[in-house]
Amino acid sequence: MNIIPLLTPSEAESRVSLLEMGLDELTEFVKGLGQPAYRARQIWEWIYQRYAADFEEMSNLPQNLRAQLAQQATLSVMTPVVEQVSMAGDTLKILFQLHDGQTIEAVLMLYDKRRTLCISSQAGCAMGCTFCATAQGGLARNLTTGEIVAQVLYFARYLATPGALPMTEVERPSSVTNIVLMGMGEPMHNYKNVWGALRRLTDPGAFGLGARNITLSTVGLVPMIDRMAEEGLQIGLAVSLHAPNDALRTQLVPINKGYPVDELLASVQRYIAKTHRRVTFEYALMKGINDSAELAHELGQKLQPLLCHVNVIPLNPIPDSQFQPSSDEDTERFVEILRGYGISATVRLRRGIEINAGCGQLRRSQSPGTKTREAVAV
Ligand code: SF4
Repeated sequence: MNIIPLLTPSEAESRVSLLEMGLDELTEFVKGLGQPAYRARQIWEWIYQRYAADFEEMSNLPQNLRAQLAQQATLSVMTPVVEQVSMAGDTLKILFQLHDGQTIEAVLMLYDKRRTLCISSQAGCAMGCTFCATAQGGLARNLTTGEIVAQVLYFARYLATPGALPMTEVERPSSVTNIVLMGMGEPMHNYKNVWGALRRLTDPGAFGLGARNITLSTVGLVPMIDRMAEEGLQIGLAVSLHAPNDALRTQLVPINKGYPVDELLASVQRYIAKTHRRVTFEYALMKGINDSAELAHELGQKLQPLLCHVNVIPLNPIPDSQFQPSSDEDTERFVEILRGYGISATVRLRRGIEINAGCGQLRRSQSPGTKTREAVAV
């Protein structure tokens, strides 16, 4: 696969990222270069439908335009510095470095029919969830719309390029079918840039992925859930709940102090009433913390009235952490109790545990300023 080296910070400053532009802005930019407006549409299609990483690939553009673009613009906003493939060959995790040295993670998971991509919305995170590796470094900054989109384009290129990386055990499908915003960061805390990216990714004239194939996961910023209900785009909503009551949830998810469980569930109820869409609750099961039968009953009672699904997630263990995954037996008991309340509940398959696939774990395991690019089949 053609990987374009990251620009130096001074090169990046002197060139404009086309990934930050909508089609109208790109058209103005192209006209500013003295080129006809229709060239913008051609560039747009090369970026979002043919996943070009380099202006030289844009073979229907005249050479002088390609040269102008190479001098004044860029498509390169991040570069992979670490790549890891799971033992089963079905999960690929990449640590990307951005121009300012920040790093973010994205994970591609191959299933029988789906090719699901988990992307980041921020470098770091301000939410401080106590069991999360990303939380430990705090928030560095929001990702731009272009940096969010670039993660998807990178994997789209990867899937479309035969023999790009050593994923051999699973037949390689050729396109991204699902996207989840469950990587580093709280997407609702970077609302404007995230929704700019979502509109680009779902625009049939751009990346063109069905909105229903995208899920946004939040720890529960109530005003933003209300705002999302008004967006008119069928993006799925997932809420990371992890506890059914304020006493426990505030310990695990500190933002709960501002948006307690009952307020959060009321906003989810409003969201369902407005969109008629089923909402997913995520519940990371932690041994001895939130996995008791009593808590399962409390959760079942609270969620029973809602049109929802519960994803029970065995925690990815963080080394030296007090939070460890629940046993299979306790996990099964928890799910069965929820089902007893008529709630649809499943245990999410844990992917790539040996490659630090939990949010923020690969980034945390790398020292700052890592520059080496290594493909690691573990
Ligand atoms: S779990 Fe998500 S919201 Fe919480 S700190 Fe980690 S990245 Fe942020």
